[in-house]
Amino acid sequence: RQEQFRALRSVDPVSSDGVRVNLMMNAGLLVDLPHLDDSGAEGIGLFRTELQFMIASRMPKATEQEAFYRQVLDHAGNRPVTFRTLDIGSDKMVSYFRSQEEENPAMGWRAVRLALDRPYLLRMQLRALMKATAGEALKVMVPMVSEVDEIRQTRALMAKEVQHMRRFGHDVPRKIELGAMLEVPALLYEIDEMMAEVDFVSVGSNDLYQFLMATDRGNARVADRYDTLSKPFLRVLRDIVRAGERNHVPVTLCGEFASRPISAMALFAIGYRTVSMSPTAIGPVKAMLLGLDISAVSSFLNDALDDPKNLTPVRTLLERFAAEN
Ligand code: PEP
Ligand code: MG
Repeated sequence: RQEQFRALRSVDPVSSDGVRVNLMMNAGLLVDLPHLDDSGAEGIGLFRTELQFMIASRMPKATEQEAFYRQVLDHAGNRPVTFRTLDIGSDKMVSYFRSQEEENPAMGWRAVRLALDRPYLLRMQLRALMKATAGEALKVMVPMVSEVDEIRQTRALMAKEVQHMRRFGHDVPRKIELGAMLEVPALLYEIDEMMAEVDFVSVGSNDLYQFLMATDRGNARVADRYDTLSKPFLRVLRDIVRAGERNHVPVTLCGEFASRPISAMALFAIGYRTVSMSPTAIGPVKAMLLGLDISAVSSFLNDALDDPKNLTPVRTLLERFAAEN
């Protein structure tokens, strides 16, 4: 199978009915970069910048951050990279930074919350990212956004940094795109307002599922208790794609959900066209895609999601579809 997947590396990700999708990979360290070549990923849909911080024994200096981002971009060449700003906290601990114990760290002082409370950290990171991408395009996304104002504040900080850099004669990126990760369910109810403020949205399916189902992603006793292919979660994911279409904002998904061929199939069925996953998942997902009739699975799954009388688990329906087609 490994050989078979490797042979697919240079095959375009197109479904049997001719729909072109983008298969991107998640990364966070330099050791991940060779996977760009051996997986055939078209770019990095999620670069977890906190990993550089997590493996260091002290805070990486601005110059170290910039050099690190530059290495990532050099390796990626003309393949796009989406950098996520620091998602420190919860399951992403940094020994030299946190001081207080929290009872519910997943819902605590983390990610954009911490970044906006300690803006020097965020500004240092944004500056490093901008220097690394001077003259090129920069794509940044913000983790764990809970309300639209967090995007506005991040954008304002970024604008300040751009001004600052210009004033001191530094080149800035030719283009900057700012996106929000959709990981907190409250944003679903402010989705049109949020989409008016961003250049793109990326669904963080691990956290979104955790918070939607109130199920700790790191707790083995409950993490597998509910089905990620259940109606509620798929309906939510579909609503997000639809909001993207309505607002003309690109919506992608990163997180483990896209890494399983059957859930990737569900994502294509409900309208996702760009997904980012573990590099090892790209071969299997592409193999599935090449034989998939997206328009057929799309009507099949949408009908099931719209039918309150259909009580068959969606997973069973999708497995049946996959076996029969
Ligand atoms: C997610 O939550 O789905 C995600 C991509 O971010 P992380 O797994 O790093 O929390
Ligand atoms: Mg997350």
